[in-house]
Amino acid sequence: MAQASDAKRVPLEAKSPFDLRVDLGNDVPETDVRTALAQGDMGFLHSFTTGSAVDGPGIRVVGWTTGCMWRCQYCHNPDTWTMRNGIPVSVAQALEELGKYRHGLKIMSSDADLDTIDLVLLGIKTWGRERHRALTGRDPEPTLEFARRLAKRGQPLWVRFVLVPGLTDDAADIAQIATFAASLGNVQRVEVLPFHQMGRFKWETLGIRYALESTEPPSPAAVAAACGIFRAQGLRAD
Ligand code: SF4
Repeated sequence: MAQASDAKRVPLEAKSPFDLRVDLGNDVPETDVRTALAQGDMGFLHSFTTGSAVDGPGIRVVGWTTGCMWRCQYCHNPDTWTMRNGIPVSVAQALEELGKYRHGLKIMSSDADLDTIDLVLLGIKTWGRERHRALTGRDPEPTLEFARRLAKRGQPLWVRFVLVPGLTDDAADIAQIATFAASLGNVQRVEVLPFHQMGRFKWETLGIRYALESTEPPSPAAVAAACGIFRAQGLRAD
């Protein structure tokens, strides 16, 4: 299989979450692509993320593929929607890349390993299955289940919540997250992270309509109000 010349120079592990990656698979002959995809020998990778803790149970290395069929409003990686934006990688190459982390993975997927971790930062996006799916395209349960597992262990936990005006700022929803967090007993802090537009350039560069184009970051008063809801449950929030 021919490999894209640009792709040879681009490391699989992204420098930052805002790495814009486009056209990395453009010069792979169409016939090669079709053959390899049909045989399952190749895929297109946007990047690898190591140490991801929110994409399924435990901590894992995640290979972000391109060619996503979803269109989440707040997506900060719209460059993953087009398959040829990714690096064409054979299965063998992907396994070789993953192999670099096998030691880390082996160590880090058991409760025994959680004993070596002194603090977990866990993102809770919104409350309610339908609302969570509408916002993220994913079910909330894997995240909530991980939180309960940490609580059972008495593992120190910080909850991270992104406040997006018009999407996650519903007071009743925030109150549900606060009640859940308080019920765990091991939450030491809640970080209310104001929405920002640092990923907007990706939508613009890719020419994709960005539903949050005119969404302003929340005001300090809105952030304070959200913190107040968590504090009302006896949680430290800022
Ligand atoms: S946020 Fe949604 S649209 Fe963006 S990559 Fe993830 S699933 Fe796809």
